[in-house]
Amino acid sequence: MSDQSAAPVLAGRGLECAIGSTHVLRGVDIEIAPGEVVALMGPSGSGKSTLLHLLAGLLRPDAGTVTLSGQRLDTQPDRVRSARRLRELGFVFQFGDLVPELTVVENVELPLRLLGEQPARCRERALEMLDRLSVADEADRRLSEVSGGQAQRAAVARALVHWPAVILADEPTGSLDTVTGELVLEALVSAASDQGTAVLLVTHEMRVAAWSDRDIHLRDGAVVDAGVPA
Ligand code: ADP
Ligand code: MG
Repeated sequence: MSDQSAAPVLAGRGLECAIGSTHVLRGVDIEIAPGEVVALMGPSGSGKSTLLHLLAGLLRPDAGTVTLSGQRLDTQPDRVRSARRLRELGFVFQFGDLVPELTVVENVELPLRLLGEQPARCRERALEMLDRLSVADEADRRLSEVSGGQAQRAAVARALVHWPAVILADEPTGSLDTVTGELVLEALVSAASDQGTAVLLVTHEMRVAAWSDRDIHLRDGAVVDAGVPA
């Protein structure tokens, strides 16, 4: 269950970001509590992906702060930010970032391997996540040999595999049909309810927002509306 009274596990305050001459984010405030599922919505170009990158410490804001698990993320050195990103966050990129030369299961194991887990335990846990997303049959195929939808589910499995405190997912159901899209949503929502993972997911599908506790709308780099899905 979401616990909105708890201290936020992730908070962005007064976030400003310019890319080139574009003022992409204009003073965004956002917070997510442990176990909450929040849908981030808004038209193409409104700054959703940029906001996720700032919250993950992949990009530094021009102004404002990012606090993860009670500690500032944005001001830490790159090496510390990368280590915290690995341990505390799962990220599903809008355009994928899995390694094509590795197999599906090797991609999913990667966070656990980097965190120093036992290889056998890594594989077991990765297969469990792939099974939950109905792609376990593809586990030993190279990523470059599976379909886009299968790769996308592998990306979601990888984001969940190391029990992160927060998952940031950029259009995780974007290229999926209804049935596989629901598998992804179920996996994300159960991470929230079973493990208290906070989930922030970008979507422009209303049916996806219906799975969330709350939605936040961005327009031209500012929050225009935040509420509960109808
Ligand atoms: P969304 O995910 O909501 O579609 P983005 O965060 O990707 O929006 O982009 C917001 C704005 O920032 C857009 O105007 C986009 O053109 C611009 N932008 C984002 N990334 C870059 C980049 N790497 N280089 C130039 N402009 C960018
Ligand atoms: Mg985007």
